[in-house]
Amino acid sequence: MNAPFKNLIAGEWAGAANASRNINPSNTNDVVGEYAQGTVEDLNNAVAAAKAAFPAWSRSTPQERYEVLKKASDEILSRKDELGRLLSREEGKTLAEGIGEATRAGQIFAFFAGECLRLGGEMVPSVRPGVGVEITREPVGIVGMITPWNFPIAIPAWKIAPALAWGNCVVIKPADLVPGSAWALVDIIQRAGLPKGVLNLVMGRGSVVGQALLEHKDVHAISFTGSVPTGRKVAAACIASNPMKKVQLEMGGKNPLVVLDDADLKVAVEVAVNGAFFSTGQRCTASSRLIVQAGIHDRFVEACIERLKTVVVDDALKSGTHIGPVVDQSQLDQDLKYIQIAKDEGGKLVFGGELLKRETPGFYLQPALFTETTNAMRISREEVFGPVANIVRVKDYDEALAIANDTEFGLSSGICTTSLKHATHFKRNSEAGMVMVNLPTAGVDYHVPFGGRKGSSYGPREQGAYAKEFYSTVKTAYTLA
Ligand code: NAD
Repeated sequence: MNAPFKNLIAGEWAGAANASRNINPSNTNDVVGEYAQGTVEDLNNAVAAAKAAFPAWSRSTPQERYEVLKKASDEILSRKDELGRLLSREEGKTLAEGIGEATRAGQIFAFFAGECLRLGGEMVPSVRPGVGVEITREPVGIVGMITPWNFPIAIPAWKIAPALAWGNCVVIKPADLVPGSAWALVDIIQRAGLPKGVLNLVMGRGSVVGQALLEHKDVHAISFTGSVPTGRKVAAACIASNPMKKVQLEMGGKNPLVVLDDADLKVAVEVAVNGAFFSTGQRCTASSRLIVQAGIHDRFVEACIERLKTVVVDDALKSGTHIGPVVDQSQLDQDLKYIQIAKDEGGKLVFGGELLKRETPGFYLQPALFTETTNAMRISREEVFGPVANIVRVKDYDEALAIANDTEFGLSSGICTTSLKHATHFKRNSEAGMVMVNLPTAGVDYHVPFGGRKGSSYGPREQGAYAKEFYSTVKTAYTLA
């Protein structure tokens, strides 16, 4: 079958023998499109194209790179409503969230267009007489990118934009489940004037296209976002390859939100409900562990339940929907499995957790909130990646901090408090890459570093000016005058 949405290899849209159907999770009768399923041969051709394009692109001027990135940004922003609709249709986050994510992709390209004009190095006096030292940054080479389904346009954008700004060539394999947004993004960037072969898109299965990308000897670096088990395989393959590949991993989370007795109850409830359940809880930064001090616990639970009663779960594209469907059947099965696990462990389901019927067949799940859980239970320790959160009751701030840090993850964390002392202490002592005070654990700026610690991340940060640590390599040159 020759799918209408093809792979981009060496600047040409290339068909494939097989295709996959991109299904709308709000309405499984709605096929978003047929997308090419790449093969190992397609991947090899894409890497060869990137290799051929690298000498010229790596020496392109900052102005050339700026113009491509700026033009791409302009088109993404001018089409944000259409791109946001496509994203919501294929992934299931609400239209407002989809448009917000498309806007973010445009902003990221504008930011990195600016970075093209700020590429620089250092000149340093040598400790030896007559010698000059220059420290410069050069592109890493060919960067392979493997992305997850939950941010179908923002994550490809925050990897591709800095890679191009620093003069690298790219082969990207987006998530199999949601190739539409990545396809649209790559089409925009290619038409923005990128030379052929600098950016290549090979859609398809992780075990086929992803694996071949990891094993290819001409790929210098891999930027991966996805689950911990896949991340481990990616890192192992990068180290096993000869030469070894530079690698960056952004993975899962079990992000804690602490609510202290002195919190503003209204703020805490908004922060918790938004952080735990919006975007269907399918955010790596979702607040899936709510750690609540005993004095506010009962009022907080009651207010969360009241707030959850007002939340509308429905078709992602319908106006008035607050939470869209779960992305597919297998994620829904996982969510339901964890709801059962939490019940079996002795958690008390105080809201939701049941399947919902809507006008169209889709994966609709009422957000689930558990109380009476401990931090030792599986529901507190394992990433569910759905609209499921549990509350752990604690006696004081010290216990809250200890429990917040008692996890193998370390992506994002948050605290709701009116105490400057506790907010300051938490910011310093939380073992997470991103810490929020009176704000949801999910929802970050696009111009500053993003990433975590412990089991959530490996390698340099993504986004903002810090992205150069991954997308460039440092050279130190000495000259005797
Ligand atoms: P996943 O690990 O199943 O897949 C991620 C990507 O890896 C996909 O493109 C997939 O096709 C590919 N892949 C799978 N097996 C592969 C293999 N053997 N070799 C090479 N590539 C392979 O993750 P997912 O279900 O798409 O995404 C959800 C996960 O992503 C969650 O754990 C979530 O927390 C995480 N995530 C993390 C961040 C972050 O920045 N920390 C952001 C978004 C999502």
